[in-house]
Amino acid sequence: MEQNPPPQFPSPEELKTKITEFMKQNFGDRVSVATFAEPEPAPAEEEEEKPEKTDHEEFEFNLLPRDIKAHLDRFVIKQDEAKKVLAIAVCDHYNHANYLRRLEKEDAARAQEIEYIKQNVILVGPTGVGKTYLIKHIADLIKVPFVKADATKFSETGYVGGDVEDLVRELVHKADGDVNLAQFGIIYIDEIDKIAAAGNLIGRDVSGRGVQTTLLKLMEETEVAVRSMNDLQAQLQAAFEFQRRGKAKRETINTRHILFVVSGAFEKLKEQVARRVRHGQIGFSAEPIQVMDNELFRHVTTQDFIEYGFEPEFIGRLPVRVVCEDLDAADLFSIMKYSEGSLLRQYERAFRAYGIEISFEDEALRLLSEAAAGEKTGARGLLTVFEKLFRDYKYYLAGSGLSQLRVTAALVREPQRVLDRLMAEGHKLEAQMLEAGARQFAEKFNNEHGLEIVLEEAAVRRLVERAQAERMTMSDLCAHLFKDYQFGLNLIKKNTGQARFVINAGAVDAPDKFLSELVVQSYYPGAATQKA
Ligand code: ADP
Repeated sequence: MEQNPPPQFPSPEELKTKITEFMKQNFGDRVSVATFAEPEPAPAEEEEEKPEKTDHEEFEFNLLPRDIKAHLDRFVIKQDEAKKVLAIAVCDHYNHANYLRRLEKEDAARAQEIEYIKQNVILVGPTGVGKTYLIKHIADLIKVPFVKADATKFSETGYVGGDVEDLVRELVHKADGDVNLAQFGIIYIDEIDKIAAAGNLIGRDVSGRGVQTTLLKLMEETEVAVRSMNDLQAQLQAAFEFQRRGKAKRETINTRHILFVVSGAFEKLKEQVARRVRHGQIGFSAEPIQVMDNELFRHVTTQDFIEYGFEPEFIGRLPVRVVCEDLDAADLFSIMKYSEGSLLRQYERAFRAYGIEISFEDEALRLLSEAAAGEKTGARGLLTVFEKLFRDYKYYLAGSGLSQLRVTAALVREPQRVLDRLMAEGHKLEAQMLEAGARQFAEKFNNEHGLEIVLEEAAVRRLVERAQAERMTMSDLCAHLFKDYQFGLNLIKKNTGQARFVINAGAVDAPDKFLSELVVQSYYPGAATQKA
């Protein structure tokens, strides 16, 4: 008859309990185990796993530098030189990846021998001038995952290696688990200048040098485990997958084709170069030469980076140097006017959600860009200036009845005065709409119940006041105030034949009292009656 079943692999719950006990015994109460949903068991007859899309879909690259530049031109204003250099570096990088992959199939040994310096990029420039924006749009165009982090973050846990590797794992996450695609992703590390200052300790006890060494390994070529050894949940999941399919999923990510971009403002480096250049230590000229501030970075040498506090090997792995320029007020104006990512679109959407069409005069945009340039945070200044200017406008104009908002120079110069005027206008418009609403209510009442109610002017005014004060729609307010009128007025009609009723302002404030008096009068016609 029935045989003893073979010993079962423990259920997730049992396994969790066992592991928790084990961890407690060994590490005390500080460790806990997170639960995750047990993977849906596959139907018995469908043992065959879905093929992993990762291993079948090949990443394809076939763009020209000018294609990339054209794409960037749609979004990024200025930074022409940076766009060109980046476009070339990106094409070289992914073309080489294509080449190596082909060669690996034909002649693996030769592929191993090919020497190639990866086109990793060091991106220099002040904050908010489009450094991240450029790289993000490149990643979007070529459809590879993109991950950004600040170099200063790596030290916080005191465990640099794990944090830096987490970036690589994050690429897999961004690629929806597609490890193959993640291997062609772009990792962007900002504030790299902060980990260079020689001898400077960052975070707890990890020197910038430690971060540089760890990054260097990734930038060269290394294998990173898809699941962090620190992540118990991921380890458990792996155990279940193994148990279910009897084979392990692909476990590591190779960083050979991951493109690294590091960036920073490098203010101090600029000073260092300025001293050297302005004191004529360039070429053989003994005369000091005049160099504009924003041109200084063109004179940066590898030696400058090393003196600044970078390891020679680290800087050596970043052969592509790109400079992003400062943006002035005119550039910020162009960004608003011509970039497809313009902030204006965001504000148009935000106001449209409140039923308001916002539009901008050029003169106003000029004033706004000047104010934003004063913030000295590049295009981020626009966000700050807009947020401050339009905060009250959003708050007070939303639901005010106003349907158009023209942003003029006067509005930018005297926002409060213009807002007050618009609110008064909005109030008036709203009152007109509410008035129309009150008359519609009367008309509907007449049509539906065969009883004519006539709203006196004073009653309409009072209704509008109440609707505005109580923030109610007119139809809701009338339905609430006059809920018993159909019944009451019908009773009167039955008693006296009267079918036309004049509603005064008093009725709006005390609708029940007004109605009951009418009803009482209909039973005692001797008493004073309402004029029909
Ligand atoms: P950072 O140079 O500090 O990396 P970002 O690239 O993150 O600055 O820029 C912040 C935002 O400002 C971007 O998301 C983009 O909307 C806008 N921006 C910055 N520079 C430009 C530019 N040159 N052209 C168009 N928009 C820009």
